[in-house]
Amino acid sequence: MKPSVFALSLLALASGSCTTPPAPAGNTAAESPPAGSPVALHGELRTNGNRVVNADGNTVSLAGVSFFWSTTGWGQDDLYNAAAVDYFADDWDASLVRAAIAADRNGGYVSDPEGNLARAHAVIDAAIDKGLYVIADWHSHHAEDNPEAAVEFFTGLAEKYGDTPNIIYEIYNEPLDTADWSTVVKPYSKQLIDAIREVDPDNLILVGTQSWSQDVDKAAADPILGETNIAYTLHFYAASHKQDLRDKAQAALEAGLPLFVSEWGGVNYDGDGGVDKASVMQWMAFMRANGISHANWAVSDKKEGASIFKPGTSPAGPFTDEDLTESGAFVKSIVAGWDETPTE
Ligand code: MG
Repeated sequence: MKPSVFALSLLALASGSCTTPPAPAGNTAAESPPAGSPVALHGELRTNGNRVVNADGNTVSLAGVSFFWSTTGWGQDDLYNAAAVDYFADDWDASLVRAAIAADRNGGYVSDPEGNLARAHAVIDAAIDKGLYVIADWHSHHAEDNPEAAVEFFTGLAEKYGDTPNIIYEIYNEPLDTADWSTVVKPYSKQLIDAIREVDPDNLILVGTQSWSQDVDKAAADPILGETNIAYTLHFYAASHKQDLRDKAQAALEAGLPLFVSEWGGVNYDGDGGVDKASVMQWMAFMRANGISHANWAVSDKKEGASIFKPGTSPAGPFTDEDLTESGAFVKSIVAGWDETPTE
């Protein structure tokens, strides 16, 4: 998700304010997932050919939501809490949440590691408590400029959570269209994969693709070899992206790439505008047919089309259907009705 001028202006307004994040919770790696929860049902994920499969080897298609940029002072950081995760687990029957941890912008991990790590830990710990899968996403458009920060972030998470079945590492949200896959994104990805694998040999790693995670065809033409449990991200915004992007995705699948939709919206690519429900349903049919997992952008009460919550929703909860926007209510109907184990 690209940052908007509105978000940047909020940051400017918020500069000078000071919030103290809560201390990270303790390591919950030894806990068992609650009976009947998604992680209790499916266990450790891995890839098999062009599919993500569960511990039984069956294709698994997770459905859930992505939190908004965790950026300190952007206004959605307070939603990184257990009440929000619990709401999506209990009321939406979600199997997946995504922590979109701001990387390199002012207010991101590089300038405020404590605040952003606390938000990551809050969502990951809450997801583990509920037996959900959880993506730790390095939310950046310039990650190749500072791979050392990403290595530090992910190796820390791998040490803390790498023994749980829950954690999924998304090492680069959306490379720009100018970040060439073969010479920029792929070498960055290999550096990150090597660093994570030194600590965690097996959990799923999601690799971003050129052009805001749309050029999966380029990754398919020059895939990362010699690694296990690597999937590639495909992002779409249904009002902007349609059959031509699905054609690229289909070609990548046929070339053998497992795909993971770690971020999608029903609105325009900039996160605003109305929900294109017909296009969303075409995308859902595509993901259903191919067993692809997906997380909706975004857990936010910012005044824009993609937000799940209405402006002014209390970040502490309790959350109800009354708090949902048009997009939020529509996405809830999709997530709550999603079958994690499609018959193929
Ligand atoms: Mg592991």
